[in-house]
Amino acid sequence: MNLVRLLTDTAARHPDRPALRLGGKALTYARLDRDSARAASYLLAYGLEPGDRVGLSLPNVPEFAVLYYGILRAGGIVVPMNPLLKEREREHLIADSRALITLGADRDWGAELAPHAPLEKVVERSGEDTAVLIYTSGTTGKPKGAELTHANLLRNVEATNSSLLRLTEHDVLFGGLPLFHSFGQTCVLNCAVAAGASVTLLPRFDAGEALDLLVRDAVTVWAGVPTMFGALLAHPSLGPAHRGRLRLAASGGASLPVEILHAFEEAFGCPLLEGYGLSETSPVASFNRLEGPRRPGTIGLPIEGVRIRIQDESGRELPDGRTGEVAISGHNVMKGYWNRPEDTAEVLRDGWLRTGDLGVREADGLFRIVGRKKELIIRGGFNVYPREIEEILYEHPAVAEAAVLGTPHPELGEEVTAVVALKSGRATVTRPDELLAFVKARVAPYKYPRVVAIADALPKGPTGKILKREIEPPVLTPHSLE
Ligand code: AMP
Repeated sequence: MNLVRLLTDTAARHPDRPALRLGGKALTYARLDRDSARAASYLLAYGLEPGDRVGLSLPNVPEFAVLYYGILRAGGIVVPMNPLLKEREREHLIADSRALITLGADRDWGAELAPHAPLEKVVERSGEDTAVLIYTSGTTGKPKGAELTHANLLRNVEATNSSLLRLTEHDVLFGGLPLFHSFGQTCVLNCAVAAGASVTLLPRFDAGEALDLLVRDAVTVWAGVPTMFGALLAHPSLGPAHRGRLRLAASGGASLPVEILHAFEEAFGCPLLEGYGLSETSPVASFNRLEGPRRPGTIGLPIEGVRIRIQDESGRELPDGRTGEVAISGHNVMKGYWNRPEDTAEVLRDGWLRTGDLGVREADGLFRIVGRKKELIIRGGFNVYPREIEEILYEHPAVAEAAVLGTPHPELGEEVTAVVALKSGRATVTRPDELLAFVKARVAPYKYPRVVAIADALPKGPTGKILKREIEPPVLTPHSLE
């Protein structure tokens, strides 16, 4: 068993269909298959052994897919990285995964792979072998690698396709969700490849370009995060030309405001279905269904082969209508966190994954997410872990205490803001903008706080832990919304 089977099977059935498009160029399934086999040879020549980790740091370009399947084909484990990460963020992932090599945008992959003859055989892996490490902070702490196996991903692709997307080789998917994230990887790349559909790539999301792409490449299925749907609706070029083209749109990654759902269905004349999942669940756990059951504001029902329950602190299942922690079990639940048995034991018990999300099962059986136990901030679909940003603020010599918060934002869902208390005597030398620039220089652009407020001290509990719930969040101004 090997996830790359999705590609080899499709390339045999539909060799000439375009797998990926970018700009005016298309890469057929036959080419993707052959180039990924060259990439596998390249990696074996480099010394890759089965189970070795290989970093992959690219935006949504065809080479992402070539190298992704190349790594799998050679028996390696893919460690996808957001290409916007700064050096030290990337270093953490490389050191933690002990990656053999990182494949990035610094090389011309066409020229690099050309001298290598395509590897004839796919290196076999068992379903239990890890295929991908998705770095996520989970419920707490520093990013750690969620180990997704070949079986996890294959079955999540099958269930997502059969429960929801029903892709065929005639579909064209919008490829604007980052492929380094599990949502884009499963619901866009792997689901499309399994069905022989095409993905039309957009390396950097821009609502105007996305609307052009919809028409130019005749997109039929759109998977996105709520902020993307909001941005499309707000764009001045949205008009009648965009209506009636899509067959289906799917939203995940953060809660979808019901107003956006209705406005989108009205403007595009196509159903928008909300689903839910996380990196640790490959990622799809539940979805509203086209033929029902379906209700705006809910995340629908678990997909085939997955169970969801609402439980209390001790892990006991709660009755319908009661709010508790969402727990998931099924073929999609990760093997564990890479090299972190303690963190794994904290979230995985008796086959149930504790998600850190709060939810409720309603009388009609549909689930609704009502909040989060964990500290995660989701800014425009991108995850920001407060602790990581707080640690950087603490590195500044003037900072005594720091708290990073998610503040409601009309388009992004949440904006990252920070409140800090300065060491005595520093108040006059440090302005908020200086702290903002300090963080900005050290993290990917989507993570730094757009507003930093300075307080005399932060509210604390009896153990000295900062009580974030008691902090007055900083006010977002038009200036900070740029
Ligand atoms: P990630 O691991 O990056 O996929 O982030 C997973 C987290 O995104 C979940 O634990 C939730 O907190 C959040 N999330 C995903 N889908 C939804 C949804 N439909 N509604 C609310 N939160 C969601």
